[in-house]
Amino acid sequence: MKTRRLILAAALVAAPLHTAVAQAQISIDAERLTETVRTLASDTFEGRAPGTRGEDRTLGYLIARFEALGLEPAGTDGGWLQKVPLLHTRLGTPARLAFDAPSGVMPVQSAKDIYLSTIRPDDTARIAGAPLVFVGYGVKASERGWDDFKGADLKGKVVVFLINDPDFAAKPGEPVAGKFGDRTMTYYGRWTYKFEEAARQGAIGALIVHNAAGVGYGWNVIISPGGENYDIVRTPDKLSSLALQGWLSADMAQRLFASAGLDLAAQEIAARAPGFRPVEMKGVTFDAEIPVNHETVTSHNVLAKIPGKTRPDEVVMYGAHWDAYGEGTPDAQGRIYRAGANDDALGIAGMFEIARAMKAQAAPDRSVVFGVWTAEERGLLGSEYYANNPVFPMERTVANLGLDILQTAGAANDVVLVGKGQNTLEDDMARVAARQGRTVTPESLPERGLFYRADHFSFAKRGVPVLLLMGIAGAANLKQGGSAAGQAWIDAYTGQCYHQACDQWGADWNLDGAVQDIELIGTIGAELANSNTWPQWKAGSEFKGVRDQSSAPKQ
Ligand SMILES: [Zn+2]
Repeated sequence: MKTRRLILAAALVAAPLHTAVAQAQISIDAERLTETVRTLASDTFEGRAPGTRGEDRTLGYLIARFEALGLEPAGTDGGWLQKVPLLHTRLGTPARLAFDAPSGVMPVQSAKDIYLSTIRPDDTARIAGAPLVFVGYGVKASERGWDDFKGADLKGKVVVFLINDPDFAAKPGEPVAGKFGDRTMTYYGRWTYKFEEAARQGAIGALIVHNAAGVGYGWNVIISPGGENYDIVRTPDKLSSLALQGWLSADMAQRLFASAGLDLAAQEIAARAPGFRPVEMKGVTFDAEIPVNHETVTSHNVLAKIPGKTRPDEVVMYGAHWDAYGEGTPDAQGRIYRAGANDDALGIAGMFEIARAMKAQAAPDRSVVFGVWTAEERGLLGSEYYANNPVFPMERTVANLGLDILQTAGAANDVVLVGKGQNTLEDDMARVAARQGRTVTPESLPERGLFYRADHFSFAKRGVPVLLLMGIAGAANLKQGGSAAGQAWIDAYTGQCYHQACDQWGADWNLDGAVQDIELIGTIGAELANSNTWPQWKAGSEFKGVRDQSSAPKQ
């Protein structure tokens, strides 16, 4: 086994502008990454599903590794862990499920016409004759001067949304064009935002009209959870007001609008205007009575730190998730565990090596915290729980740097940036990449909203500047085979192995590109940990307001 020595050379150099920054260099060993990945993806860990024996074993392993690396516990009560109580729900067979329209009762078939779930721990999800209101894209974005609600009272109503953001389908020259990042999806376009906003409006139900182009996948993906859902356990005052949330098939939506005397296509156009107001779907109401199985599952985040020597209360944070998909039906090779070797054992391996390289050097000025989150695959829940119950205050968290899926197809001439235009960490990425002789390539399908689909997002929502490495966000320009080879790797991984039993380490893995990316994000964190810099959101970012209103330093 060839082992490269780990080097971290840090030197204080005068920065071109006003402040001294530490120019650090983090160097990572591919063999050690492989060792961690092979261990975590082995059958011993049973696919690392939250709340299982696989979780106990995973926690034990992660803690032992952090201890061996000489890190300190950073969980609650002086330990390594943070308890994360999760709510798990599953809808049973509906006792009642129908729309009442002026033309009579419209029967509705679950999974064909409608897809529903709940994040409330009620024994029965009940909506009795609630009126439907179409809210267009349902966006309330003060920084863009946009409010689809216009003060309408939506309490106790079922709100109907379009997916994506208001400029998604706009033609050039329309007033809305470019107001929501053009092709790039803003958070307002995500279905998670729609449900959160519906709850803020006090609605009892929220239904999104399915559109494959708008959401990025077909109806089969919408219905695949089979009525199951997860959330963090919330106190009664923080529970969602939504008894039911979900999707309408395009066909069902068409019929519903028609029954209210509305033309869906015309409403879609009307929803692109800033003057749009909620439209009552006259005479249409929703009735549902569905039994809910619900249980609480206790899972855990793991938190470790390298304490800062001069400003320990200022925190540079790394994050990756330990959970994967547990046990499933055997694949062609008889494998039952969906062990997430790449997603995200490789991200954890990267964090261990960054920690090792940092520990080999003098203690940083700021603290460096490593968060290994649970239940990312259930909806970013471990990180969401942490962000609701932070061990280190958000306004003193300098940045959150995430690793979630790295390409395993070899060295690249570039690094892929997720969330272009969001914050100044992308400038750091470009600067450090240039030192590596690489360039930055923006993600290839920004309309898919990948920026909102990993744990760093739980921090972005609270205003913490974030940077994410996500190997499936865009084709890397590989040294062997260029962008075509990078795309072929993504197609093969997402087409066959993503969230499946075949997400396993393979002898064909070439981690040279992953090493470059980990060295890059390791270096960015090492520099931040030895500087006074506070990364900032850029103008137009939907997260700038939260940070600006907090007590976090502006510079
Ligand atoms: Zn992941």
